[in-house]
Amino acid sequence: TPTIGVLALQGDTAEHLRVLGTLGVDAAPVLRPEDLDRVHGLVLPGGESTTMSKLAVRYELMEPLRKHIGEGMPAYGTCAGMIMLADRILDGAEGQQTVGGLDITVRRNAFGRQTESFEGPVDIDGLEGGPFDAVFIRAPWVEAVGADVRVLGQVAYGGRAGRIVAVRQGGLLATSFHPELTGDPRIHRLFVDMVKGQA
Ligand code: GLN
Repeated sequence: TPTIGVLALQGDTAEHLRVLGTLGVDAAPVLRPEDLDRVHGLVLPGGESTTMSKLAVRYELMEPLRKHIGEGMPAYGTCAGMIMLADRILDGAEGQQTVGGLDITVRRNAFGRQTESFEGPVDIDGLEGGPFDAVFIRAPWVEAVGADVRVLGQVAYGGRAGRIVAVRQGGLLATSFHPELTGDPRIHRLFVDMVKGQA
């Protein structure tokens, strides 16, 4: 049984632990560098990426996170967690650092003020059972992807189709939205399968 960690610095850690707990894996909060040695995969939750980043530095987790993810530990970032996994950010705070690993450029708070949060169906490539009911909360989108990144989901916004909201690159998965809030475990199950080497 794999153990899947959820970064517990800030954000909606508890919701991810709860969903993972229903999927037959051991789920554990990660707050110290040594916690990372005990997990086979890591979820980086939604929350506030500048705060999460500052806390990661303060708790001496930033370098261990970079090391583990750089060495191939599977990771899944939702919303602020997607920002944390991105190699490049637009509209970041002054000096905002990321863990990186995912060859994408994300734009923070990309869905403007009028639509700080919204919900809607998104087709996710490879996910059976129909569109995913996605909740976006001050969400980023992916503005550019590297050659090894597969786009899994897009939404239309502001009269333009094709805003990228779900991506995968090898063992790294990221969504702009929050599947831990809607009771549909399919994306967490995909990540569990990735950690098991079955997806
Ligand atoms: N807007 C937040 C950020 O920039 C992300 C919001 C979220 O995780 N729901 O970090």
